[in-house]
Amino acid sequence: MRKFIKEFCKNNVPDAIVKQDKARNIYITKGEDKTYPCVVAHMDEVHDKNKNKEIVIHDNLIFGLDRKAMKLTGIGADDKNGIWVALNLLTTEKVLKCAFFVGEETGCIGSHQADMVFFSDVRFVVHFDVPDSPEAYFQEAGRGGRDGKRSFAVMLWNSTDIKRMKQIATVSFPSLEYIEDIYHKVHSAYEIPYDTGAGRQLKFNLEEFCRKYGLQRSSAYYALTYLERTDHLTLSEDVDISTKVQIRLERNELYDIEFPDPKMILLLETLMRKYTGLFAFPVPIDEDYIAGRIGVTVPMLRQLLYNLALEHVIKYIPSDHATVLFLHHDRLRPKNLNLDPERYQMLKDSSDTRMQKMLDYITEEDTCRSAYLLDYFGQKESADCGTCDVCRSSKKSSDTTLKEALVKFVNDEMSGSYTLEDVARRFGSQTSSDSDTYIRLLRRLIDEGTLPAPGL
Ligand SMILES: [Zn+2]
Repeated sequence: MRKFIKEFCKNNVPDAIVKQDKARNIYITKGEDKTYPCVVAHMDEVHDKNKNKEIVIHDNLIFGLDRKAMKLTGIGADDKNGIWVALNLLTTEKVLKCAFFVGEETGCIGSHQADMVFFSDVRFVVHFDVPDSPEAYFQEAGRGGRDGKRSFAVMLWNSTDIKRMKQIATVSFPSLEYIEDIYHKVHSAYEIPYDTGAGRQLKFNLEEFCRKYGLQRSSAYYALTYLERTDHLTLSEDVDISTKVQIRLERNELYDIEFPDPKMILLLETLMRKYTGLFAFPVPIDEDYIAGRIGVTVPMLRQLLYNLALEHVIKYIPSDHATVLFLHHDRLRPKNLNLDPERYQMLKDSSDTRMQKMLDYITEEDTCRSAYLLDYFGQKESADCGTCDVCRSSKKSSDTTLKEALVKFVNDEMSGSYTLEDVARRFGSQTSSDSDTYIRLLRRLIDEGTLPAPGL
């Protein structure tokens, strides 16, 4: 997904500035202005991960294609529509900022480590999907107005979002039996017997794992997440795996070979001096160090390694990004896992509550949005903000009632002949706090021609 986003920008918005931070979040700035609309989408690929997947655009739709099998495949991204909308906005808008976060489904990893300088002058924050809790929403909406100036948060949602949230709630807490089953399947997949395996690091592919055992991906993923929470293993996505090298020949055979490039022999000697075990198994190497020692750049070093592999001198496993499972202890026997059922129930309940609160928040029609959030975070009885959509629409409806009362009073009771004192006697003195409202409305009704002007 990261590659797709970058390529899309290069081909469609070449003038946009694309940056990546340490957490591998992507930031895109298009155009120059004092203030920018900002669009945020998530790059998580928690679903269907097909190795041969290529992301394709056709007919203004985005989907995954497996060219080898010539079939459509899942795109893997949970927020693909958000990504697609954001990318399209980049092509249509003159000025825009987009942020694409990693690891949002697994505890807002990307947004926690976000580069806040990028968001310092944001006036609008638009949500294309519903965050799973008010906490997440509050944090994300808080990207706007960090310079203290007025800013707006807009969320777009429909019934599909509600359905999706409820589905996520169901799959994100699979049963404890299922979780234990996943624990044993992971070990079986790597042929790890009981009472062994502590400290093993396994290159893990969720898609392959699920295919092998006929599992539903999201449930398996959440089972692994819970095993992580209960300290059985760690699942690290997007880990840098360093380049590994193994020498396939005997030491004395090396000196019989005539290498086309003298750097090759220098490289082999440097490797042998620095690392032991090279003849026995693939050893992780420090590319920067080795490149420096033999006086080449890292890309040149990789080319040399590749050429040596072609000559069957070494086995070369290039550096990679992969998901890695780290086993915390030896494989436990069935029924010996400590899955902490009480904690599980508590997590499930609190997740349900948070989701319900979020649903209430978006469907709320009577309570001020700001007051609702403050109440959720423990600040009771806060004043209405007067700015959010709920406040504005209630102001509108109270305006309508007051307008009707004014028209009725002037036309029916006073038969069109009235003074401002008459109005004040009926609707409160001109110095009262309400007077602003009715004078403003009266003025508008007179301007519209609905009511005659008052007499003196
Ligand atoms: Zn409000």
